[in-house]
Amino acid sequence: MTLGEVIRGFGDVLFPPVCVHCGGLVGSGAYRHLCPACALQIDFVRPPHCTVCGHPFPGEMEGLRRCPHCRGLDPAFGSGCTVVLFRGPVRSLLIELKYRRGWHVMEDLETILCRSPEALERARGSVLVPVPLHARKLRERGYNQSEMLARSLARAAGDGARVESLLRRIEDTPSQTAFGRQARRLNLKNAFALASGAPLNPGLRHVLVDDVFTTGSTINQCARALRKAGCLRLEVVTFSHG
Ligand SMILES: [Zn+2]
Ligand SMILES: [Zn+2]
Repeated sequence: MTLGEVIRGFGDVLFPPVCVHCGGLVGSGAYRHLCPACALQIDFVRPPHCTVCGHPFPGEMEGLRRCPHCRGLDPAFGSGCTVVLFRGPVRSLLIELKYRRGWHVMEDLETILCRSPEALERARGSVLVPVPLHARKLRERGYNQSEMLARSLARAAGDGARVESLLRRIEDTPSQTAFGRQARRLNLKNAFALASGAPLNPGLRHVLVDDVFTTGSTINQCARALRKAGCLRLEVVTFSHG
C-alpha cells in the first residue's frame, strides 16, 4: 500500500465517497464515484455498431454501414467508435467533469475507457488529437475535457499511443448568431485549423477524440482540417454517444 493509498483510505473513512448519479454511498466496487448499482447501468457499446458514429445496431445488421444518428454526415474520417452511451451514470460523470470542475471523476472515466477493447486498439500506435475548445472557453473552464480523455486513453492503451493537440478553434460560436443559415455553415466550415507550427506526420494513424458524439458536425470539421493538412489515416473515438 502506498502512502497515497493510506491517505486516501483515511479520507474515505472521514468523507465516504458519494455516487455522482444517485447520491448514495459508493462502498466497494470498480468505480470511486459510482455505486455498484449505478455502475451496472453503464451502457457499453459492443459490436455490431455503426462504423461512422459508433452507435450500436440492434442485432445483426449485415452490410448496413450507416445509422439514423449520423445520416446526412459526409464523414471526412475513415471510421469511428464510441465507448458508452451518453445516459444515466455516464451523463452524470461527464456533467461532473465539464460543469462542476470534477477532475476527480477522470479516474472512473479511465476505468471505463479500459473496458473498451476497440477504443484501446484504435489508440495503440496512434496520434490522438483532442477536439479543441475555443481559447475563451478554455480560459473560462480551465481545461479541455476532450484533451483529458485523450490523455487517459493514451495512458490506458499504452503501446505508442500519444496525444498531440494539433488543432485550434478559430471561430467563436456566439459570433455565429449574427449570420444567416448559409453563412453559419460557411463559418463553421472554417472553425478549425492546424495549430501553428503543429507537426503532422502523414504516415501515422491519427485518431480524433471527443467527449460526446451528437450530430458529428464538430468532429467532422476537425477531420476536414486534418485532411487538409495532409492526414491520410484518420479515425474517431468518442467517449460517449448522445
Ligand atoms: Zn449510484
Ligand atoms: Zn451512425
